[in-house]
Amino acid sequence: MHIDLSGKSAVISGSTLGIGFAIAKGLANAGAEVVINGRSEASVGKAREALLKDTPKAKVITVAADLSTADGADKLIKAVPSADILVNNVGIFEPKPFEDIPDGDWQRFFETNVMSGIRLSRAYVKGMREKNWGRVVFISSESGINIPGEMVHYGMTKTAQLAVSRGLAQSLAGTGVTVNSVLPGPTRSDGVIDFFGKIAAGEGVPQAEIEKNFIAQFRPSSIIKRLAEVEEVANMVVYICSKQASATTGASLRVDGGVVATIT
Ligand code: NAD
Repeated sequence: MHIDLSGKSAVISGSTLGIGFAIAKGLANAGAEVVINGRSEASVGKAREALLKDTPKAKVITVAADLSTADGADKLIKAVPSADILVNNVGIFEPKPFEDIPDGDWQRFFETNVMSGIRLSRAYVKGMREKNWGRVVFISSESGINIPGEMVHYGMTKTAQLAVSRGLAQSLAGTGVTVNSVLPGPTRSDGVIDFFGKIAAGEGVPQAEIEKNFIAQFRPSSIIKRLAEVEEVANMVVYICSKQASATTGASLRVDGGVVATIT
């Protein structure tokens, strides 16, 4: 199978680092024009440079916009009014005991992880429907199914994305626009490296040991017994955005290393 996305444009939210950057790279390698988004001009510029170093022929547009607000989403939509592919990747996570999560955190997580995807989908799906072709992908998480007790607010947003994704797919019935969720398991993204790095520094233990213990203690059902690499998640996203993936819609596709211990 040869995936060719030349002539298609793709917006990837929160794509200066981590899984989002790997997705941007994967889609650019498949020939799509990619829009890289992050909060600052400096971060999007750095990501553009890194992508062009890897793929000199890539077509890369950058938009600095903070997607935790409606104004930020509007800024991105104004700068890039249409897209053939939308990957709602931006997401924040932070462990916190349930009793200590204030209203503000619930709202911030909901705005960033859920409303960003709703706002962008609402804007871009219109053009996709008119063209009768489009791909929308929500980067949810296995935490949307296995709600983590150590960050319930995060789990809530990841389940909400599954509902929005499935409902949006149904609302586009009979069109050439597909909508799917991808559910990564623990993945070695920049955010996660940072997170484990801080624990390792605090405990004076090598980071590799922290990662191994995390899987053993918090994700014992993992079949691969390791973190996934960002490219492993990006590969699924590139496929689901391809022309070949035209019969897969309304689905929740796992790249969780087997963490969710059910057959379907
Ligand atoms: P990351 O922290 O490594 O990268 C996040 C990216 O989003 C960065 O480019 C950052 O600059 C950008 N960003 C953050 N806040 C933003 C904002 N308000 N506006 C615009 N850009 C913003 O994250 P990651 O681990 O790659 O996670 C990406 C997605 O994958 C998230 O939705 C996350 O929930 C999901 N996910 C991650 C894992 C994992 O283990 N890494 C597992 C399951 C799901």
